[in-house]
Amino acid sequence: TSPEHHGRAEVVVDVAAIRHNVATLKRAVGEPRMMTVVKADGYGHGIVESARAAREGGADWLGVAVMEEALALRAAGDTGPILTWLTVPGERYEACLEAGVDVTAYTVAELDAIAMTARDIGVPARVQLKVDTGLSRGGSTLDLWPGLVEAAAAAEESGAVRVTGVWSHFACSDEPKHPANDEQEQAFLAALQTVEAVGIEPEVVHLANSAAALLRPSSRFDLVRCGIASYGLTPAPDEASSDDLGLVPAMTVRGRLALVKRVRAGSGVSYGHTYVTARDTTVGVVPMGYGDGVPRHASSRAEVLVAGLRRPVLGRVCMDQIVVDLGDDDVATGDEVVLVGDGRDGAPTAQDWADACGTISYEIVTRMGARQPGRMP
Ligand code: PLP
Repeated sequence: TSPEHHGRAEVVVDVAAIRHNVATLKRAVGEPRMMTVVKADGYGHGIVESARAAREGGADWLGVAVMEEALALRAAGDTGPILTWLTVPGERYEACLEAGVDVTAYTVAELDAIAMTARDIGVPARVQLKVDTGLSRGGSTLDLWPGLVEAAAAAEESGAVRVTGVWSHFACSDEPKHPANDEQEQAFLAALQTVEAVGIEPEVVHLANSAAALLRPSSRFDLVRCGIASYGLTPAPDEASSDDLGLVPAMTVRGRLALVKRVRAGSGVSYGHTYVTARDTTVGVVPMGYGDGVPRHASSRAEVLVAGLRRPVLGRVCMDQIVVDLGDDDVATGDEVVLVGDGRDGAPTAQDWADACGTISYEIVTRMGARQPGRMP
């Protein structure tokens, strides 16, 4: 009944889907350049494989959170523009500067550390300045922004630094009508004027993530940073489905039923007996649990696909296993079970899991994608 995999659950990534999604997003946004965000191991899809597929689909830039990710891309042979945006105090910039990776500065202290490293190694740093326009996470607050911009202009003057970009990040772009979107865009425009006033001419200014890139054309500027949509998942489930957006989910999580058996009516299932069978029931044991990234919140909420039908998870998700209801069907130990699919064959999508668990699809794919020994790009 099933394809050529065996044993434990595995994650299969359809790289052609990533290629397709990136090309689709590029067409949707038009002129602006496309950055594909491949942090967190390509949202669980594999950083190197995702990056390669993204470049083939037309990604002009790759975006990552931490410097190790950028260096992993260089080690895998990627020579194109890459931006990294999260550092911790004391972090060393040499390797990224030597590798021609753009680093982000939020503060004058960071900018100084970057410029000093650039002088030490004799390689000008490519630096992007990040302004906090309302997420209150990384980035310079608006009151400190003029100081950072002036310091950047001086560093550029000294030859140690080239300011290649200026950027910010939305807080509420998955809710297009949220007033914060307008406020952040206005604040970003004002921040850009400060940059212009000191004569800095960045290569790219950018603000939009997937949701904004698709739903808020005014926020596209020179470049958009698309993560979740590149993997085929809708960035704004209340606004549009993947299908509506022409996106194809790239991740499949599947395995084989480790055991199928009949239990009597009145049997408590899994820890805590939070579920009790109303009648004699065939149950299946799926060899994947919260240790493999299945949210424990999926307990008695999510579904999996077995033999063409959705089967509910019964009771609590365990560390390595879950139990599902197979009804009275003729299903056998070893039959295929699909936890996450692309939605075309009836399997639940990552968005379905997110809805069932009260979370976002990002968390589903990054958690289930990580640590799967059988991942086959
Ligand atoms: N830009 C930054 C700074 C991010 O942290 C992220 C991801 O969270 C993205 C862009 C991509 O966001 P999305 O996956 O919603 O497209």
